[in-house]
Amino acid sequence: MHHSTARSEELFREAQQVIPGGVNSPVRAFKAVGGTPRFIARAQGAYLWDADGNQLLDYIGSWGPMILGHNHPAVVAAIQQALAEGLSYGAPTEREIRLAQRVREAYPSADLVRFVSSGTEATMSALRLARGYTGRDLIVKFRGNYHGHADSLLVQAGSGLLTGGGGSARSAPSSAGVPQAFAELTLVADYNEPQALEDLFQRYGEQIAAVIFEPVVGNAGVLIPTPAFLEALHRLTRQYGALLIADEVMTGFRLAKGGAVELLGLQPDLICWGKILGGGLPVGAYGGRAEIMQQVAPLGPVYQAGTLSGNPLSMAAGLATLETLFQDPPYARLEAYGAALEQGLQTLFAEAGLPVAINRVGSMITVFFREGPVQTYTEAVASDTERFKAFFHGLLQRGVYWPPSQFEAAFFSLAHGPQELDKTLEAIAQALKEPAL
Ligand code: PLP
Repeated sequence: MHHSTARSEELFREAQQVIPGGVNSPVRAFKAVGGTPRFIARAQGAYLWDADGNQLLDYIGSWGPMILGHNHPAVVAAIQQALAEGLSYGAPTEREIRLAQRVREAYPSADLVRFVSSGTEATMSALRLARGYTGRDLIVKFRGNYHGHADSLLVQAGSGLLTGGGGSARSAPSSAGVPQAFAELTLVADYNEPQALEDLFQRYGEQIAAVIFEPVVGNAGVLIPTPAFLEALHRLTRQYGALLIADEVMTGFRLAKGGAVELLGLQPDLICWGKILGGGLPVGAYGGRAEIMQQVAPLGPVYQAGTLSGNPLSMAAGLATLETLFQDPPYARLEAYGAALEQGLQTLFAEAGLPVAINRVGSMITVFFREGPVQTYTEAVASDTERFKAFFHGLLQRGVYWPPSQFEAAFFSLAHGPQELDKTLEAIAQALKEPAL
């Protein structure tokens, strides 16, 4: 069982000589759980192989995009086709129209869609648009929600910022280098606490351009919105003329064809996408009602651009991914795997006498190491992160690659089947026998 990791260790040492912390995105460094991150050599279906040749059953899925499993043949073929034609033109192409049409098919309220190259760009641009459209400066976000690393959004942010990626999540701003003056334009409220939102709107409502939120949170671990919270979000934004921005970067095309918007019956003014939309290549997008989106350049005064926006390879990967998903919608299958995994986890943890709260929506799941329920940020951060570390390493040593932080969602894909479920539960059963758990 115990993996040899000599090559990953060697590569990590080398990486640290030329890349800050040896990684290009903080959570990859395993800082929250300790140990050496695995360097990945290749992937197929539900599995990764690291640089030492160890096979890992993947519950990260590149942090969300790989819903079809790694190297899906339809996606690979679409990229190869695009590759043979040319890499980037800085001019419009037909694939951009086709992908925008697919997004609109899944999200009928999005009349117009603008492609960018990351989720960060999508949320950053949506905020600028909301400010431009409303002529107001303040935005509201929720403690522990993560929307990428634009300055205005690195205030009480989740994901890597909850696990030592930089700055402190408990002060505003969450990162050095974000001027206090920017942070002051970002109001922070608590997720699933409608009264706090109500108070904020009573005080600042006329100045609020937008509220941005994760419709199902992945970046504090999985948190599920309560109906009262969703009702307050819609009511207050409407009442005060602020825009409601659903950040579907993680949940879009994952929880349903039309993401959390469809699943929960939401009516946001703007929607942001990323991850699955690019099928593993860099893509983000934002969209909404024509009247708002027409404020974006070249039609309107809100500037936003990108050399590689709508890149042909990214569009091809995204199109193949959405077409595959839409042809034979897989959400019932993902739900069945998720329900079985959740049930298996409940049973194993109960047998081990270990209190956990398992939050899951479809193919996003978090095991919080504390008693439930966990609905708020405050409840999430009270988890036993030492136990989580032991859980994480116990699984990794048995070939199951869970996200290296208590405050991240685990994802699974359509390549995860009965064999993968058995393997996962067996690894968990064995890991639970370890003394640290
Ligand atoms: N929004 C959400 C909900 C996310 O989970 C993320 C990334 O994890 C982002 C935005 C930022 O996307 P990206 O990392 O592509 O910039």
